[in-house]
This record gives sequence, C-alpha cells and structure tokens, in this order.
Amino acid sequence: MVAVATRTPLIAGNWKMNLDHLQAVALVQKLDWALRDAKHEKGSVEVAVFPPFTDLRSVQTLLDADRIAFALGAQDLSTHDSGAYTGEISGAFLKKLACTYVIIGHSERREYHDETDEVIAAKVQAALRHGLVPVICVGETLEQLEEFGAAAVPVGQLQVALEGVPADAEIVVAYEPVWAIGTGKVATPEQAQDVCAALRAVIAEKLDADAAGRTRVLYGGSVKSGNIATYMREPDVDGALVGGASLVSDEFAAIVRFQKHVGV
Ligand code: PEP
Repeated sequence: MVAVATRTPLIAGNWKMNLDHLQAVALVQKLDWALRDAKHEKGSVEVAVFPPFTDLRSVQTLLDADRIAFALGAQDLSTHDSGAYTGEISGAFLKKLACTYVIIGHSERREYHDETDEVIAAKVQAALRHGLVPVICVGETLEQLEEFGAAAVPVGQLQVALEGVPADAEIVVAYEPVWAIGTGKVATPEQAQDVCAALRAVIAEKLDADAAGRTRVLYGGSVKSGNIATYMREPDVDGALVGGASLVSDEFAAIVRFQKHVGV
C-alpha cells in the first residue's frame, strides 16, 4: 500500500548544453518577470532550473540577490568526491553552489556517454552523500517499447538506481520515454500514468510505502504549455522534466502555470 501524501508539483527545466552564463541570467530574469506579471502563487508549484555547469554560479548569484524562489540543479555529477578525475564535477562543488538537485541518468548521458545502470546507481549514491536530491531519469527506447512494452525497462532501471538508497532519502524520479525526448512525440497521459504508477511501486518495494507516497514522479518528453495540464491530471504524475520548452521564458512560465489553463 502506498501512503497518501501531498506532493508539491515540480516543474523542472533541463537546459542541456544551451545558453552561456550571460544568456542564462537573462532567461532566469525573464522567467521571473513572466511569473511575477502573471501573479503566480509561488508555493503552489516548485520551479527548478538546470543550467550547464558554467552557468551555475551566475544563476545562483542572481537567485540569491533578487530573492527568486527557483531551485537550482546541475545536469550531472561525478561518482567520485575529489581527486585526479580531469573534467569531472564533484557533488561537493554543486552543494557549495546551493544546488538542490542533480539530474542523473538522462537518456543523453546513457546513450552518448555510455552510462550504465551501475554508473547511475553510483551517481545516485554520490548525490546523496553530498546532500543533493537526485532526479533519476528512466525510460525506454522505441525498440524497447515495441519489444517489452512501456514499463519494463524504466522499472528495471529504477530498481538498480535505488539499490542501497535509504528509505528516508529525498529523491525525484523522472519517466522520460526516449522516443518522446525532443521529438514532438508524446506518451499519452494514460501511458505516462501507468508507468509513473509502476515506478512508484518500485519506490515502495525498494524504499518503503512512506517514501513512495512522498516522492515526486515526473513525466518528461516534449512537454509544452498545450499538453502539460493533461499529464498533471493523472494521480501519479507530480510534475514535468522539460527540455526544449524550458529555454523559452513565456512558454516555460505557461507550463509552470498549468493549474490556470484547464481546471486541474
Ligand atoms: C529532456 O531533455 O529531459 C526533455 C524532456 O526534452 P524535451 O522536453 O525537449 O523533449
């Protein structure tokens, strides 16, 4: 049995390898203005941005100086804490920059950087060691969808990622079907619901019912202002991980304000 809990929706913008630190500052300012203009109620939805590493300090300084209530996250971290690992970024550095979150296991890291489920599990442990909330991404390719259905691969990926994670850990899980990322193709709200519910059951099995009740499970894959509300109506979808649409301030602000478009 999964415990009932109130979960604050999380709308997270994964900027990928886009925007230098000056462009990053401009986008955060525009997003803040768009939400202020719309009189967005801050506590109703949590907003998080995930800029490239080189932008983090500038964005952190702006959030702090202008008291902007967006959470900050990084797009990856090292499995190691420090040492001779040229080019790697420690979770300790991210924590010092006031990052709350770190994306782990994005399909682009799995595909282009050969990150295995075991590497991803080690990154989850590294995030937790440094007090960061891992946003654990799972999802199936089109071939896997056709061969195994939608839930089997993401469920298996999450089972490995949660190995050794304590029941009281704060984590976020993002279901991102690979075939829907950046393609304009989307899972139906029912498909997203089914897989998010299956992922919540994995959290109950690997952590406990309480963790399953409080953990946010997001959908990601070509989310836009025009479709976000349909996902947010589903009981096991607690937010979205947004790629392309998070780079356009008005569009991302409209996604954050999903509660206003349609009676959710
Ligand atoms: C992503 O990169 O996590 C993503 C969901 O991208 P997009 O929204 O562009 O499909």
